[in-house]
Amino acid sequence: MAAEPGQPGAAGEGILVVGAGLAGLRTAEALRSNGYSGPLEIVGAEPHLPYNRPPLSKQALATGPSLDTLVYPRRPTVADVTWTLGRAALAADLDRRTVTLDDGTSRAFTGLVIATGVRSRRLGLGRDGAEPMLLRTLDDAIELRAELGPGVRLVIVGAGFIGCEVAATAAGLGAEVLVVDPLPAPLAGVLGRRLGDAVRARLEALGVYVRTDTAVRAVTVGTDLAEPARYAVHLAPADGSAAEPDPVPADVVLEAVGSVPNVDWLAGTGLELSAGVRCDEAHRVLRDGIPLPYAVAVGDVARLPHPLLGELRIEHWTWPGDTAARSARSLLAGLGRGEPPQDPLTALPSFWSDLPGGRIQSFGLPQRGHADVRLLEGDWDGECAVGYHVDGRLVGVALIGLARRMMHYREALLHDLTV
Ligand SMILES: Cc1cc2nc3c(=O)[nH]c(=O)nc-3n(C[C@H](O)[C@H](O)[C@H](O)COP(=O)(O)OP(=O)(O)OC[C@H]3O[C@@H](n4cnc5c(N)ncnc54)[C@H](O)[C@@H]3O)c2cc1C
Repeated sequence: MAAEPGQPGAAGEGILVVGAGLAGLRTAEALRSNGYSGPLEIVGAEPHLPYNRPPLSKQALATGPSLDTLVYPRRPTVADVTWTLGRAALAADLDRRTVTLDDGTSRAFTGLVIATGVRSRRLGLGRDGAEPMLLRTLDDAIELRAELGPGVRLVIVGAGFIGCEVAATAAGLGAEVLVVDPLPAPLAGVLGRRLGDAVRARLEALGVYVRTDTAVRAVTVGTDLAEPARYAVHLAPADGSAAEPDPVPADVVLEAVGSVPNVDWLAGTGLELSAGVRCDEAHRVLRDGIPLPYAVAVGDVARLPHPLLGELRIEHWTWPGDTAARSARSLLAGLGRGEPPQDPLTALPSFWSDLPGGRIQSFGLPQRGHADVRLLEGDWDGECAVGYHVDGRLVGVALIGLARRMMHYREALLHDLTV
């Protein structure tokens, strides 16, 4: 599949997967299980084979992250795949069907799988080299773990899922943890205020300090503080009023403020790249509103219309597993090998998060139903099921604990979405 850089080209002989994460791996496996036996190359920016990310903020961060325990088992059908790791795609030409890598080489392809996921968002808080850490990759997690321990002062910018999970894990390692978020409660952006308050109580019970309605304005070097530290974290009320006079000393600062889809390498291809790679329901990427038969996007990076939930881009671990087979079948059909998926997309977004006091699981899109949040079962501060509604119908459900009720509420959600 190698091609000289800049050579005009007949398409290569194989399928190129860009992104060696869960979505890239699952789509490669699905291509094989749907009968594709031709050349298959997977290019990944990280130096590692695909590995499991969720433990990076949970058990693996507690015990010490290692590739050996996190790497996914790979099906024998992908044993002959060419892995090009530690190489990022820099550019693509979808008419000539080539992708250029950061070593200057290029790859020609007949079919392309776009599976480049997301990266951590940065708010540009660091000054004079005082840059907060991030947590997206195994290498990030190894670096963060090396900094944590008893008495370490950790400030986490952002009380989303990753921020809250790291706060709980770090507190378990003996760190003094402060989490700061401009919203009124942890996880309020996804689960709403009331459940967010319950999460706050759980974090506080672990000794985590939670500052809500508060923004981090900057992170500077902390050597001049009354209580000298590696970093000084400058806080201000989220309403934009004057910054607090005394910055918070910190040994470690983690920025956990969401993500940005990795689409830069597709600039200039004519694809619609705002908020992820826009696709049709069959995962075929759209150019000028028209699906390209020979390119699909899958996983965190893909934005697509869901027949029950409208347009969405999902950053959940289960999503690549739920959608890789559709993507593979669409691509193979576009290449003249087999039928495209006939069935509508029915997979529901579904997420879990492990926080002390019970696993949080959610289905559908709770964030769309914050105006009408109802306790369906249990009690707010213990095990519970919470429903998020639009026009009186469920659009999302969150469970704290109550794993045995998962199927019941999943069906209730499906019912409300389909009536
Ligand atoms: C710390 C953490 C905890 C999480 N916890 C949960 C959880 O509890 N529950 C849950 O449902 N989900 C969780 N997630 C989300 C879940 O891990 C993702 O939804 C899943 O990994 C998505 O897989 P993906 O293959 O689409 O993207 P990724 O796993 O991000 O893989 C994309 C790969 O593409 C590579 N890449 C990017 N750009 C290029 C390029 N230009 N060229 C080549 N390669 C490139 C990236 O380096 C990356 O390796 C968590 C994520 C993180 C980071």
